[in-house]
Amino acid sequence: MKNIILLGPPGAGKGTQATRLVDSRDMVQLSTGDMLRAARTSGTDMGRKVAAVLDAGGLVTDEIVIGLIDEKLATSGHGGFIFDGFPRTLKQADALGELLARKGLTLDAVIELVVDDEALVGRIVKRAEDARAAGQPVRRDDTPEVFEVRLREYYKNTAPLIGYYWAKQSLVQIDGMAEMDDVSTAIAKVLG
Ligand code: AMP
Repeated sequence: MKNIILLGPPGAGKGTQATRLVDSRDMVQLSTGDMLRAARTSGTDMGRKVAAVLDAGGLVTDEIVIGLIDEKLATSGHGGFIFDGFPRTLKQADALGELLARKGLTLDAVIELVVDDEALVGRIVKRAEDARAAGQPVRRDDTPEVFEVRLREYYKNTAPLIGYYWAKQSLVQIDGMAEMDDVSTAIAKVLG
């Protein structure tokens, strides 16, 4: 069982790689973005509270996302957890460390997908176009305008985690601009 964090800006390919790891290694993807999008359509108080934040590209409170992750860490008997889009702040990173320790789990690697900013907005626009063409729901935050806010949030709040995990000697950097299959191969190498 290997527990990993996939770190990187929006559009870096975290979700795509997480899905592949679920299929190939029986890992469990914990995407706070997916959980929050599910919450907004569930008619709960929390869903209503977070909807506007999601649409604006801001960050939901640490308390909410830490609570979501805490609930999901109970499941066992799989290949490990992939934290996708969490943690996004230093406070969340500290909380994750505490949650894992309390449950007797370890963090085995933090994999940063390194990508060029210029490529990202193109990927986001393409993701929206592909979803539209496939008749799937299009994320409301996949527009160039909201993407800018999300990228700024990333640099302000999440990029400091690169130093945080580097100092803990957990960080592995992978070229996220490579072909999808090559990125998967590089991740597989890290996982052993
Ligand atoms: P994602 O699907 O990871 O791109 O997340 C979509 C949106 O959900 C983000 O733009 C945030 O508004 C919110 N979100 C997801 N994960 C977190 C998190 N760990 N902390 C705060 N907000 C989050």
